[in-house]
Amino acid sequence: MDVIVLGGGLMGTASAFFLARRGARVTLIERRGIGTGATVASFGNIRRTGRYLPQLPLAHRARALWGQAADLLGRDVEFRATGHIRLIYDDKALSDMRAFADAARPWGLNLDELEPAEIQRRFPGLGPGAIAASFSPEDGSGNPRLIAPAFAEAAQKLGVRVIAQTSVGTISRTSGGFSVEADAGLIEAEALLNCAGAWGGRIAAQFDEPVPIEVLGPQMGVTEPLPHRILPVVGVWSSAAKDNVYFRQVERGNIVFGGGAPHVPVALDPGYAQTDPVTTPIQMRALIRLLPALRDVAVIRTWSGCEGYLQDMLPVMGASATTPGLFHAFGFCGHGFQLGPGVGDAMAELIITGRCETPLEGFRINRFAA
Ligand SMILES: Cc1cc2nc3c(=O)[nH]c(=O)nc-3n(C[C@H](O)[C@H](O)[C@H](O)COP(=O)(O)OP(=O)(O)OC[C@H]3O[C@@H](n4cnc5c(N)ncnc54)[C@H](O)[C@@H]3O)c2cc1C
Repeated sequence: MDVIVLGGGLMGTASAFFLARRGARVTLIERRGIGTGATVASFGNIRRTGRYLPQLPLAHRARALWGQAADLLGRDVEFRATGHIRLIYDDKALSDMRAFADAARPWGLNLDELEPAEIQRRFPGLGPGAIAASFSPEDGSGNPRLIAPAFAEAAQKLGVRVIAQTSVGTISRTSGGFSVEADAGLIEAEALLNCAGAWGGRIAAQFDEPVPIEVLGPQMGVTEPLPHRILPVVGVWSSAAKDNVYFRQVERGNIVFGGGAPHVPVALDPGYAQTDPVTTPIQMRALIRLLPALRDVAVIRTWSGCEGYLQDMLPVMGASATTPGLFHAFGFCGHGFQLGPGVGDAMAELIITGRCETPLEGFRINRFAA
C-alpha cells in the first residue's frame, strides 16, 4: 500500500516509521523542518497520571514503545523512566488523587501514595509542606528535540521518502486515492494520513469534516544549570490553575518548567507562538513552593509552541468519516508527546489492517457532528 503522511512532527514521523515496518511504501511530507512544530516545543513529559481514563490503553502502548525507542530507532532519544511525582498540599487534592488512583487501577495504571517523610527521604528538598504525593514509577521524560528526527531517520532507513522544507499545494482526491502538490512534483498514494498538528483541522475541513479546534501556546521556561539532584518529573495535584506548574531537571542540570498560566492564542499563519514575560514570574512563584532551591535561580530562556486543542480536550484519531482512504491523527491538546509512539503504531495498524487493537472510538472525527 502507498501512503502519504502529511506533517513531520512526532505523530507523522512515528506513523511513517511504523507504516514502513508493516510494509507500506510511505512518503512523508513536512512543509518546514522535521519536528519543528509543537513537538520540539514540548516539555517532554511522559506522564500517564491524570489522563482521561479511556486514553490509557493508548498511553500504555506508547509507554511500552518509549521503553524500546533506543533499540527501535538506533539512537538514544533520552527517554528516562525516572518516575513522575505529583505533590499534594490539601485534603481536596488528596481525595482527588485517591479517586483517580482507584479509577485508574482497573485501566492498568498503578500509582503509589507517598507520605511526607517518604517524599523527604527519597527526594530531599522537594515539596516541603506537602501532605502527600502520588508517584508513577514507570513514567518519566524524553528529549523533544531528538524524537521526531530519530523517527524520520529510522523511517528513511526503512525506505520512507522524506520530503521536508517544501511548499505544499493542493491536496486532492483522485480516482486512485490522493495527490499532493509539493516542490518535488505531484505525490500520489492510495491513502493519506493527516498528521498536521494544529493545522490538521484545515486539512480535515477540506474533506468536509470541520472540527472545533483552538490553537494555543503553553509557555515553557528553563533555568541556568544547577547540581543534578532531582530525578523524577515533578507536578502538583490541584484544582487551582495557577498552582498547576511542573518541572524536571535535565541531566546537565537545567530545570525545565511549564504550567500555571493560561495558554496564549496563536495565529495558524505563520503559527509561531509568542511568549509573555508576565508568565515567567507567575510560574516561578508556584515552582518555589515545590522546590524552594529555585528562589535565586536565573531563567535563561522561555518559549512556546503551536498546539491544537479540541473542544473536549481529546485528539482526533482514526478514519475519515467522509472520505475512504483518508485518516487523521491531529490535535493532541498539549498531551501528545507521551502518546506519540503509540499513535504512530496504532495508526499504522489501522491503515494497514483496517482494525486497531487499541480502542480509538472515542477520538473519531465525527464525534462533534451531533
Ligand atoms: C509548549 C508545549 C509543551 C508540551 N509539553 C508536552 C508534554 O510535556 N507532554 C506531552 O505529552 N505533550 C506535550 N505537548 C504536546 C505535544 O508536544 C504535542 O501534542 C505533539 O508534539 C504533537 O505532535 P504532532 O506531530 O501532532 O504536531 P506537530 O509537532 O506540530 O507537527 C505537525 C507538523 O505538520 C506540519 N504541517 C502543517 N500543515 C502541513 C501541510 N499542509 N503539509 C505538510 N506539513 C504540514 C507542521 O509544519 C508541523 O511540523 C506540549 C506542547 C507544547 C506546544
